[in-house]
Amino acid sequence: MMGINNNESKIINGKNYSRDFLTHISDLAQKFENLLNRKPCLAVILIGDNNASKIYVKNKILTAKDTNIKSIEILLSKNTSECDLLNEIYRLNNEEKVDGILVQLPLPNHIQLEKVVNSISPKKDVDGFHPQNFGNLMLGNDTVVPCTPLGCWYMLKKELNDLTGYHALVIGRSNIVGKPMQSLLIKENCTVTIAHSKSKRLAEISKKADIIIAAIGRPEFITREFIKSNSVIIDVGINRNDKKLVGDVKFEDALKIAKKVTPVPGGVGPMTIACLMYNTVKLAYRRNNQMFKEILY
Ligand code: NDP
Repeated sequence: MMGINNNESKIINGKNYSRDFLTHISDLAQKFENLLNRKPCLAVILIGDNNASKIYVKNKILTAKDTNIKSIEILLSKNTSECDLLNEIYRLNNEEKVDGILVQLPLPNHIQLEKVVNSISPKKDVDGFHPQNFGNLMLGNDTVVPCTPLGCWYMLKKELNDLTGYHALVIGRSNIVGKPMQSLLIKENCTVTIAHSKSKRLAEISKKADIIIAAIGRPEFITREFIKSNSVIIDVGINRNDKKLVGDVKFEDALKIAKKVTPVPGGVGPMTIACLMYNTVKLAYRRNNQMFKEILY
């Protein structure tokens, strides 16, 4: 019994964090409506019929509804041409009452991600992927931060408060997670190492890290040999294993050795959606020249 309680106290509960954060965002959205007589509005484009994407979009739409945010769902067939998709984005860029535009990934193979990312107005870029917003993040300027790293950052700040001087290891260098995460941690005065598939002696490096952000996409890749005692582990990975979801971290090993760890599901996932709502409301205030009292990035 003692052991179970001990383990529970080690779990970083992303669901609880996201619930509290969403309550706050919902208040901000309500204030926006009081000021402008309309809700902040998020447009979500889904191309094709990828089942996981459909579930993600459904969750985003439901969360928006619960958070005083209007959502518009645009469903396009998997054969939609790149040109038609870009035209849809340009149309939304010019819609006065649309504050944020999200194109659900992955895209069908015939559509270039880069073109899509570049076509979304930086002022409506809720994902923070546009080069202008991404560049500002690298420069340490105020910007729109990609949702998943922002959610990881949020939980780390709640758990550790001051991150100064910690050695943080980010495993994965994608534009969506690894690279923006690195920038956030540098700004927090961490000593940051970024690793990827070509890194050598990863377990050795990892064993020295105070914080591990695992964004690899390999089920339970991070095992006891990678984990330093008393470290904090944020598991970004979502992998389907024998019909159940597992992260990039072997959870039982992390529970035994680390100080804190996020579970999968129930860790980074809920915070990612909360941060999407946050970015939508933030952009809504900004676009309408309303003062947005920063509650985080
Ligand atoms: P990518 O596939 O774009 O990137 C994976 C990264 O991991 C790459 O940089 C790759 O290196 C690195 N990598 C792969 N194998 C190894 C290895 N053996 N050792 C070290 N590094 C390795 O994935 P994403 O960043 O988009 O996503 C990562 C994971 O996070 C996935 O499981 C994804 O489903 C999940 N995810 C979860 C989200 C959430 O809301 N919880 C949101 C976004 C993603 P290289 O660059 O050399 O190829």
